[in-house]
Amino acid sequence: MKIILLGKPGGGKGTQATLLKEKLDVPQISTGDILREAVKKGTPLGKKAKEYMDAGKLVPDELIKGLVEERLLQDDTKGGFIFDGFPRTLRQAEDLEEISERTGISIDKVVYIDVPTQNIVKRLSGRRSCGCGAVYHIESKPPKRQGICDVCSGKLYQRDDDKEDVINNRIEQYEAQTMPLIEYYKNEGILVTINGDQSINDVFKDIIKGLGI
Ligand code: AMP
Repeated sequence: MKIILLGKPGGGKGTQATLLKEKLDVPQISTGDILREAVKKGTPLGKKAKEYMDAGKLVPDELIKGLVEERLLQDDTKGGFIFDGFPRTLRQAEDLEEISERTGISIDKVVYIDVPTQNIVKRLSGRRSCGCGAVYHIESKPPKRQGICDVCSGKLYQRDDDKEDVINNRIEQYEAQTMPLIEYYKNEGILVTINGDQSINDVFKDIIKGLGI
């Protein structure tokens, strides 16, 4: 199954993508993770993306298109995949259409995880991440040992763009650029809307039901 997870930053896309990838045994494609890795390695893409990411702005569409196409052409996507954090603009959705037409890879469902904006600041500012990809929240999903990853025992950190001054920019970018995608995919007839203001397990159950899997 080929799925897009859509929703506000901090709305649970990454957490649900991790659960779904285990259930479906398909890769999770997070453009945010790919970009952070590129920044860490100091690749040309990383160098270009860093200033946008630090400011909580979206990385230009033309950089994202190349990155996504390269990732989609890898063998592990043949049985399906979950996009987490892509597309984020109408232009990216159109780029994906264009890639789909060329490669025959088409999206089955778009899961929109709906969370009220007033919860987002709390969710993002309490988020703690690990280099291994695991993500926690100091209140709703704390690690067993404070500051230490349950999965790999690595030291948890707060992403620079999860600090309060950058969060508002990210929410503004979401509202201006990403929200129109809800209508876009509703018109395509593949949107499934999920109430994201529930426990992680209940959101997951609703997603499973919504996808009919
Ligand atoms: P995320 O981990 O999905 O919250 O993404 C972190 C940051 O990476 C975003 O604030 C953007 O700067 C950048 N980013 C991730 N995915 C995209 C995308 N599809 N389009 C543009 N920028 C992106």
